[in-house]
Amino acid sequence: MLYLFSHLRELRSKIEGRYLFLFLDFDGTLTPIVKTPDKAIISRETRNLLGLLLQKNNCKIAIISGRALPDIKKKLGFKNIIYSGNHGFQIEGPGIKYELPLPLVYRKTLQQIKGQLEKELNGLGGIFVEDKKFSLALHYRLAEKKYLKFIKAVFHKAVIMFLIKNKIRIRKGKKVLEVKPPTNWDKGKAALWLLARQRLVLKGGAILPVYIGDDVTDEDAFRVFKKKGLTVFVGKPGNSAANYYLKNPREVIKFLRLISKFRK
Ligand SMILES: [Mg+2]
Repeated sequence: MLYLFSHLRELRSKIEGRYLFLFLDFDGTLTPIVKTPDKAIISRETRNLLGLLLQKNNCKIAIISGRALPDIKKKLGFKNIIYSGNHGFQIEGPGIKYELPLPLVYRKTLQQIKGQLEKELNGLGGIFVEDKKFSLALHYRLAEKKYLKFIKAVFHKAVIMFLIKNKIRIRKGKKVLEVKPPTNWDKGKAALWLLARQRLVLKGGAILPVYIGDDVTDEDAFRVFKKKGLTVFVGKPGNSAANYYLKNPREVIKFLRLISKFRK
């Protein structure tokens, strides 16, 4: 993986003059990771910058987040951005509205798991179970370390039978355990779907997809775009499939500002 700012010259020649489709994760990418998800707020500077990029007619922006769709829409508030919530299961933007169809029994299963988690973790501080309609998230960032084993064991017990019967899938994020639908849909497929759609809109013009994200769920998108786009992991360089890395959200903003300059 290459440090993006050490390769600016070649990136500039790649980016300049091209139609860009920016796929941006939210938490840990546009905002630093905070103690509870509701505390993540996008800075005025980032907001202005996104606004600036959105004004250009050769740039499209999609926010691809693990948050529920109404939640991520509220966090940004732009009308001309495309939002994808629940790791790609929901997509909404100008002229776009898509939700992955789910088996009826899946919602029931989520309710059952939620009930059991709340019952067994009742009274334990620092955790909360979030129902995101398409997925269920057990957040434990604020839990005391000594309870982590117990929390994970309770989660495992609550999901194991459904997992064996292939009624759900699970995913580990940053201080969060999630239950998701048993379908082969992820952030990468959502981004590909949006890219293909935009190609139709532009009647086949060349588009350079740029995907920036920090979490395991972004890896699906990094793999998809590895050869045909620009992929950027945010954080300490490790096993990511992305081509480049940036150290933190501050550097992401710096890169977006450069992109905006390259657009002129
Ligand atoms: Mg993230």
